[in-house]
Amino acid sequence: MSERQHEQVVIIGSGPASWTAAIYAARADLSPLVIEGAGSRTMIPGGQLMYTTEVENYPGFPEGVTGIDMMADFKAQAVRFETRVIMEDVAEVDFSVRPLLLTTSGGTEIESDSVIIATGANANWIGLENEERLAQSGGGVSACAVCDGALPHFRDQVIAIVGGGDSAMEDALYMAKFAKEVVVVHRREELRASKIMQERAFAEEKIRFEWNQTVVDVIGDDVITAVLLRDTVTAEERQLEVGGLFVAIGHDPNTGFLNGQVALKPNGFVETATSWRTITSVPGVFAAGDVMDDFFKQAVTAAGTGCMAALEAERWLAHGGPQEAAAG
Ligand code: NAP
Repeated sequence: MSERQHEQVVIIGSGPASWTAAIYAARADLSPLVIEGAGSRTMIPGGQLMYTTEVENYPGFPEGVTGIDMMADFKAQAVRFETRVIMEDVAEVDFSVRPLLLTTSGGTEIESDSVIIATGANANWIGLENEERLAQSGGGVSACAVCDGALPHFRDQVIAIVGGGDSAMEDALYMAKFAKEVVVVHRREELRASKIMQERAFAEEKIRFEWNQTVVDVIGDDVITAVLLRDTVTAEERQLEVGGLFVAIGHDPNTGFLNGQVALKPNGFVETATSWRTITSVPGVFAAGDVMDDFFKQAVTAAGTGCMAALEAERWLAHGGPQEAAAG
């Protein structure tokens, strides 16, 4: 007889996708267990929203809400319907067995008929101390222009965007609506972005480019006042005065713990059956939120896919999915 805890649905992660999946699964009487993360830099409970100051684009909050308050409310709503939560990471999974097997960072082994992966993706940062300090304090440094760019303190400012991909071009075009000037700082003299995005950015009068430059420091006590640029060719350093910095150098989905057992897209995000389904390559394993979404990456879209994953898991369980999978 197995001594292991047995679950119908385990949800891994604790951002909007995870809590929404939990609310739906709990209300379907599936008594979900959320493994919310142990608080490491890569899997912080609450996910990327914990780095966002004011969320102004989530419907239902006309006055805005902080990312931290929003995640606390999402969690409270899931717990109200008897979601159980453990504050650990998932260290390992074994999806070759039935029931599916998960081992937490504390060494607990949990069996589950179905699993929803909602571990999110981390925005990449340059890795500077002052960048982290001002990002966490809401001092004008952010990794999401769509989330934070419309805040009043960025209006009519010179804004630096770091990166040369589509995200950087999209952020630059978005910020050009509010900013006095947008300066794209790129480490090479050629963009990675698609042709169409490049053309749009080149055509926007308010956007200019600083080629062959990296940001080596972020300057400002409470609020950013400048970035220190270093020329990648000559190593010359100079300050560029700015009122905001957006870092757009890609995202890393949190999939390491899957150890190759779920199919990923070439860019590392979890592959789903179609863009409108949450079914992964493993029957009974579903994916929701930023870990599978390399395109929208919004709190509201993450919540939407969390709902979809819970509904798909519920149907799979109700229609004999576990028995079929066990029979091979
Ligand atoms: P990306 O294509 O990987 O581009 C990342 C950019 O950041 C590159 O230009 C890279 O420079 C730069 N970079 C990476 N690390 C850096 C560092 N430490 N310091 C300075 N610069 C650094 O990422 P993305 O722009 O987020 O796009 C991800 C995917 O989503 C892509 O497939 C993209 O097409 C897609 N996307 C599409 C749209 C759209 O179609 N509207 C919008 C957003 C994203 P190098 O070029 O030198 O490597």
